[in-house]
Amino acid sequence: MTLLDLPKSCCSDRAEFISVEAARSRALQGVNPVTGEEVVGLRAARGRVNTSGIAAGHALPPFDQSAMDGYAVRTGDFSDGSIALPVVARQPAGPALGVSIGEQPAAVRIFTGAPIPPGFDAVVMQEHCEQHCGSVTVPRRPEAGQHIRVSGDDVPAGALIVPANTLIDARHVAILAAAGVPSINVRRRVRVAVLSTGDELREPDQQLRPGEIHDSNRAMLLSLLERPAVELVDLGRIPDDPASIAKAFEAAARDFDIVISSGGVSVGEEDHIRTAVFAAGGEIAPLNASIKPGKPISIGRLGTASLVGLPGNPVSALVTFLWFAQPIIVRRMGLRPEAPRATRAVAAFAEQRRPGRDEFVPVVVAGRDREGRLLVERRQRAGSARLSSLIDADGLARIPGELSAVRSGDTLDLYTFDPAFSL
Ligand code: AMP
Ligand code: MG
Repeated sequence: MTLLDLPKSCCSDRAEFISVEAARSRALQGVNPVTGEEVVGLRAARGRVNTSGIAAGHALPPFDQSAMDGYAVRTGDFSDGSIALPVVARQPAGPALGVSIGEQPAAVRIFTGAPIPPGFDAVVMQEHCEQHCGSVTVPRRPEAGQHIRVSGDDVPAGALIVPANTLIDARHVAILAAAGVPSINVRRRVRVAVLSTGDELREPDQQLRPGEIHDSNRAMLLSLLERPAVELVDLGRIPDDPASIAKAFEAAARDFDIVISSGGVSVGEEDHIRTAVFAAGGEIAPLNASIKPGKPISIGRLGTASLVGLPGNPVSALVTFLWFAQPIIVRRMGLRPEAPRATRAVAAFAEQRRPGRDEFVPVVVAGRDREGRLLVERRQRAGSARLSSLIDADGLARIPGELSAVRSGDTLDLYTFDPAFSL
């Protein structure tokens, strides 16, 4: 075979490369939410996606209630200046007293969350009162409505509290519970299968023979996919043999919404998957994203299944999963995939580089500069196969492809791992 006879995929370096964002949109083309729904209780709702808007069963708060510990008063009892009022009742949070309080000037000892006695229209904080044997002195006339949470002030009865197609988190669970909604309709879970290709791969508990490595991508991908809206199946390791790969993909495409593989998509090998997918009436093509690490990622479809062929190198597999597989999963869950959120950070390192693809490099947040901006350092040598470079990293900094050098002080986008404030 001469160079000219090589299949096109061997020349992928010469293919049209597109931006990471454009590749992300391309990966999402034709990807639709799964259909089918089920009912889940609030304990199982987090991480699921509701299929229809959810209305409050009742107003929040359900009745006028005190926002403070103090004394309920009637502003009509006041003229200018302070007033001493007899404390005629005690109303803790819970059932209303159910006693009627006469017309004469009076105060009711009241606590946060307690129902406001009928006819009373303000609460004075206990810190602003003086109590002495059965009466309370209030220094001045409060505003009507002071320290009272009016029924429906948070949510009117019947109001929409969670719009359709929301990824339910702890906030939604809280408001649903508060509004007396014990269960919700959610989209069925997305069925995702993960497989590895590679004759060199062994399980983490297997002894390595010469030339072998432990399969890390599958464990990583399975842990990335462990989420409430995903029904996850491990399809194991598939040998580097076109027929086996074809069989695995065909079978998986029948049972799953998304099939994610790693390895076997670099030069030449890709065609095993592609031939199999084409033969089965599907399609798959390299994304040609201008991204480093992670160039040879392929996306396709077989029947109703989305196919994602990730590169074998572990750091590439991680970065391409986050950029291109993640939005497919999110869309299939019934959500609108959002672009990964970056914060602006300042390089505390300098390096020469060859312009080309946008590069995502592990960085450590080393502190802040005088303006309060995050300073990022490179501590480890990056590399698509260097898993250790990720371990002490706080995230990935994005070096724009066109740069021929990063200078100390350059601003870079920083994609941090595991936001500590997540719900
Ligand atoms: P490939 O994409 O199959 O050419 O693999 C590229 C590199 O990634 C090779 O060094 C493989 O041994 C390695 N690799 C492939 N699959 C895995 C995996 N599942 N876990 C760890 N390394 C892998
Ligand atoms: Mg391989």
